[in-house]
Amino acid sequence: MATNRTFTMLKPDAVEKGHIGAILEKINASGFRIVAMKLTQMTKADAQEFYAIHSERPFFGELVEYMTRGPIVAAILEKDNAVEDFRALIGATNPAEAAEGTIRKLYAASIGENAVHGSDSDENAAIEGAFHFSGREMF
Ligand code: UDP
Ligand code: MG
Repeated sequence: MATNRTFTMLKPDAVEKGHIGAILEKINASGFRIVAMKLTQMTKADAQEFYAIHSERPFFGELVEYMTRGPIVAAILEKDNAVEDFRALIGATNPAEAAEGTIRKLYAASIGENAVHGSDSDENAAIEGAFHFSGREMF
């Protein structure tokens, strides 16, 4: 059954380029409520654990370097059908294939540096949210 929460990160490239405000504006305008949010930076160990499912992929080393090179904005978002609707809002992993108006089409540079993360299932949304936030940081 679909739940109403998802997890996102505005990745280091989006923060470096000053896109935090524009991306949050789009998230709000699309009907998501912010349940939890912070500026934080992942350690190598954090990124290796967060992306463990990709550990055998050829891009894993680069992904860990990229995701740890500067601060990110981590957030939990609430909306009906949150996981699916947020994946639609961010667009395809590769910005060249992302639909017009999606966050990745607007702000991502490449398949690697693609501006934003969105959970791919309700189960992962819960795991990823709990990775970054304690219950006391969720509202
Ligand atoms: N990634 C990459 N090269 C690829 C595929 C993915 O560098 O060929 C990176 C990219 O930052 C992506 C992340 O690894 O967002 C996780 O990949 P996934 O396939 O889960 O894409 P997503 O769920 O983020 O759309
Ligand atoms: Mg994914």
